Amino acid sequence: MELEDPESKPVLLFKYGGNAMSDDRLKKDVLKNIGKLKAQDCDIVIVHGGGPFIKQALNEARIESEFIDGQRKTTPEAFEYVEMTLKGKVNSHLVGLLNGLGHKAVGLSGQDGKTIIASKRRHETLVDGKMTPVDLGQVGDVAYVNPELIYLLLKNDFIPVISCTAADEFGVGYNINGDMFAGHLAGAIGADEYVVLTDVDGLMKDKNDPATLISEIQLADLKMLVDDGTIQGGMIPKIESCEIALNKGAKKARIVNGTKPGQIQKIAGVFNIGTNIKK
Ligand code: ADP
Ligand code: MG
Repeated sequence: MELEDPESKPVLLFKYGGNAMSDDRLKKDVLKNIGKLKAQDCDIVIVHGGGPFIKQALNEARIESEFIDGQRKTTPEAFEYVEMTLKGKVNSHLVGLLNGLGHKAVGLSGQDGKTIIASKRRHETLVDGKMTPVDLGQVGDVAYVNPELIYLLLKNDFIPVISCTAADEFGVGYNINGDMFAGHLAGAIGADEYVVLTDVDGLMKDKNDPATLISEIQLADLKMLVDDGTIQGGMIPKIESCEIALNKGAKKARIVNGTKPGQIQKIAGVFNIGTNIKK
């Protein structure tokens, strides 16, 4: 079976973050604009997160989470809620909206078709001045990507919509950071463009001042911005994921404001939208 056609359409992989899904109208608008790119003969893959929804589900279930160095320890009970929220709520809603717009969307997670094989994250934290291993539960990283199923879907005109969970080779499920999940997949499928949709215009010199937007930056110059604290919090895994995507085979990487869906349209044009990250 031939899976990858070198003459195929350009592939755009979107990471759609929970913070740009704040209301249903925005979500629909984002998907409408992504859909327009599909109509312009691009293949589309969507990887989504859903942090705010997971937080809400855990709160409603009164499950307290322990945070270790900013990472949520994921107990088996918490993982059930993570999967229920990402697959049952966020994913199926995105698929429904895309289908309603006339597309053929297919909801998946990393475990489907063994697209992503996860590995448990080994973490060490400082205890009494000494680095000590600590169990984060079902928090995982991408160990391996097998893009067969994604190619198969794209070849048949479907839009894969993928939740950022996956299982290891024993079938144990893990919650994976959505940005890292998307970056690995964008690299492995050799995406023509990896587009990270978030709630700000792109990478900024001052994260509170949109006028300081960096419209283009080389990978090599990013490390300094992490080291000097310019890039913080949720932007760190985004930048790291762009680096992974580019190093593993994606041709372009870009951070765009998903709360301004009109910008998505401009990706295909000559406009300089968001932050372009160059290898
Ligand atoms: P998402 O749901 O899209 O993953 P996150 O909140 O995890 O969103 O990450 C985006 C956030 O990163 C922005 O809202 C912003 O507050 C933060 N951030 C940190 N440093 C920067 C920076 N230098 N430029 C832009 N945003 C930054
Ligand atoms: Mg985030």
